[in-house]
Amino acid sequence: MKKLLALVLTGVLGVSLLTACGSSSSASSASSAPAETASTESASAPAETESASGSALDKDTLVIGTNAAFPPFEYAGDDGTPAGFDIELINAIGEKLGKKVEVKDMEFDSLVASIGNKIDIAIAGMTVTEERQKMVDFSDPYYEAVQNVIVTKDSAIASADDLKNKKIGVQLGTTGDFIASDIEGSEVSQYNKAVDAVNDLINGRVDCVIVDANPAQEFVSQHTEELTALEGSQFGFETENYAIAMPKGDTALVEAVNQALKELKEDGTFDKLVAENITGE
Ligand code: GLN
Repeated sequence: MKKLLALVLTGVLGVSLLTACGSSSSASSASSAPAETASTESASAPAETESASGSALDKDTLVIGTNAAFPPFEYAGDDGTPAGFDIELINAIGEKLGKKVEVKDMEFDSLVASIGNKIDIAIAGMTVTEERQKMVDFSDPYYEAVQNVIVTKDSAIASADDLKNKKIGVQLGTTGDFIASDIEGSEVSQYNKAVDAVNDLINGRVDCVIVDANPAQEFVSQHTEELTALEGSQFGFETENYAIAMPKGDTALVEAVNQALKELKEDGTFDKLVAENITGE
């Protein structure tokens, strides 16, 4: 709820408040947008990261947001800090750009609204969607994905029709959440971590979990006796593309990130990271 409010504040109210509050300060409207948690009274709090006009590329350190609960793309590593494919990829990109990279672990659902204020970039197995494109710019896609449906081995769920009127567990604010909410008669339980949805599936509180294929397979691999992950194509789910999210309009950053991504693909680094983190060494 707080997040929704923050989103409204930064996205919509921010603009209308500023227009309403006076013609006097129209020139710097975007830089004085309210911070995510600010009350309307303190609407002049400056953004924590780059100014509205500058590029995040002007900074020495890029602040990266992720949600370290989405293996193998990101998870808590041995020392508790985020590890995984996306983290290695963004570090390699940072190196190409000559920038330090600082990774913050956040809730997935707050990433998009935090870009341009709390963080410069989000990398989190994030699917490019039209809704998100209204708020952020995406890099070129770097990974193709699809949702899976995790069920218990004794489940009768096998087709799109079978998902109707079911209790579906999802991670809040994810494409799995959006798909589940669109299913006729669905009763959707939203969790901050997909693994909690999986635990509730084992406990019988939900009938299935809709989550991206790679994490689905990781979760199922921990419970092979009880669970199985069904292919999204079986349910008519469309393929999705993961990309890196950046502040809307920061073209310099987007171009630099795309160039770095291209070089990492050309020099074999990207494939090496895929092999080491996703497809198995
Ligand atoms: N790919 C999904 C999405 O973008 C889930 C991402 C995640 O949970 N990290 O919504």
